[in-house]
Amino acid sequence: MKIFKFGGSSIHNTSHIRNFGEIVKRFSDDEILIVASAIDKTTNNLELLHKYYVENKEELLKKQFDRIKKFHYGIIENLFDKNDNHTDCKLKIDTVFFELEQRLFTPFSGDEDKEYDAIVSFGELLSTIILSKYLQSIGVDNLWLDARSVIKTDANYRDAYIVWDKTETLINKAVDFGKTKKYLTQGFIGSDENGNTTTLGREGSDFTASIFGYALGAESVTVWKDVDGVFNKDPHKYSDAKKIEELSYHETIELSYYGAQVIHPKTIKPLQNKKIPLFVKSFYKPDEKGTLIYTENQKNLPPIFIEKQNQTLLTIYPLDFSFIVEKHLERLFFLLAKYKIKTSLLQHSAISFSIVFNDNYKTFPDLVEELKKEFKVLYNTGLTLVTIRHYTDELLAEITSGKEIFIEQKTRKTARFVLK
Ligand code: ASP
Ligand code: MG
Repeated sequence: MKIFKFGGSSIHNTSHIRNFGEIVKRFSDDEILIVASAIDKTTNNLELLHKYYVENKEELLKKQFDRIKKFHYGIIENLFDKNDNHTDCKLKIDTVFFELEQRLFTPFSGDEDKEYDAIVSFGELLSTIILSKYLQSIGVDNLWLDARSVIKTDANYRDAYIVWDKTETLINKAVDFGKTKKYLTQGFIGSDENGNTTTLGREGSDFTASIFGYALGAESVTVWKDVDGVFNKDPHKYSDAKKIEELSYHETIELSYYGAQVIHPKTIKPLQNKKIPLFVKSFYKPDEKGTLIYTENQKNLPPIFIEKQNQTLLTIYPLDFSFIVEKHLERLFFLLAKYKIKTSLLQHSAISFSIVFNDNYKTFPDLVEELKKEFKVLYNTGLTLVTIRHYTDELLAEITSGKEIFIEQKTRKTARFVLK
C-alpha cells in the first residue's frame, strides 16, 4: 500500500480538486491512504478566526466565520452535479459548521493554545469530507478516517508530540484494505489522552503522511506539490533553479531543518527508519518522476540555497559582563520553550549569545521583557538567513557582496549568513 499527501495548494479550488480526483483515479487498483490538508489558505483564515474568538471581537468573528463558510459551500456548489453526493456532502458540512459555531459562541476557556487546536483543526475536517464525497461521486470508493481517533499525541497544543506506540497500534486497527482500496484522512491533527484535539505544527500534514507510512509499513509515500520536485533554489523565485533527481534522507533532513519549504522537517526520520521511499512530485505532471528521497549516501550534489526572510537576531550579554556560562543558557532556553519560540540559528561568544528566529512571534515582547531582567538585550529584525549546502567560495562571495553581514558560520558542507 501507498501513502499520498495532498497539501492546501494542490486542492485550492474546484479545478484543482478535479485534478486531485484524476490523479487518484489513475491508481484505481492500488491500496492508498490519502492524507489531505485544509483547502487553500483555510488554516490562515481559521487562525484569524481563533484570534477574534480569543479577543472576543464578536462582529469580526461572525464575519470571518461566514467567510470561511461561504468559501467551502462555494466549492461544494461548483464541484458536484446535483445528486445524492452533493446533498450528502452539504449535510455533513452543515454539521461540521454547526459544531464550529457552537464552539465559537461558548465563552473562552482561557487556554489560547488548546482553543487554537480545537478551532484550526476544522480546516482538515472540512477538506477531507469534501474530497471523500467528491471521490465517491466520480466512482472512487473510499472510507473517511478521523485522524484524531488514531494519531495520539501529548497535550503540547499547537506543536504536539506523537505517542508512537499507541498511534501505531490504533492505525493498524483502524485501517483495513480488505474493506476499501482508498482511505481519506486529515493531515496535521491528532488528539491527546483526554480526547482533546491537537495539532502537529504548521505545515504538519507531511509529517502525518510519514506517520501513517511508518505505522503501516507503506511501500512508498508521495507528496504531491505545485513544483516538479526538490530544487536547489526556490523555483518560484529563481528561473535558473535546477531539479534534483535523487536525494538522501540525510540531505533532506538537513535541507528541511535549515528551512527549505519543500518538506516538513519531521517527515523524514520515520521513513528513513523503515527505509520507505519518499517521492516529491508535481500534481500538474503526474507522469514525471519528481524527486526520489531514498538513498543513504550521496555525492556530487550541486550547491543548494535556502533563504529565510523576516528573521530576528537577538543577542544577550550578562549584566555583570561575566562570561556566558551554562546557567545563562539554561535560563535563555527555558524562556524560549516557555514562549514557544523556535530558533533557526545559534551563535556563542565569550560574553554574548545570539539566537535567530522568525520575526512574527506574538510572544516576542514578553521574552525580551523577561530577558532584560537578567541580561543586556540587543536585537535586529527584518534580516535574511541564507544557508548554502555544498558551497564554493566564489558563490559565497557573490551572495554576500554589497550586504551587511551580521553572522557568518561555516562548516565543511554548510555556510550560513544572517544578512541585510
Ligand atoms: N493545513 C495546515 C497548515 O496549513 C497543515 C498543512 O498544510 O500541512 O499549516
Ligand atoms: Mg496548508
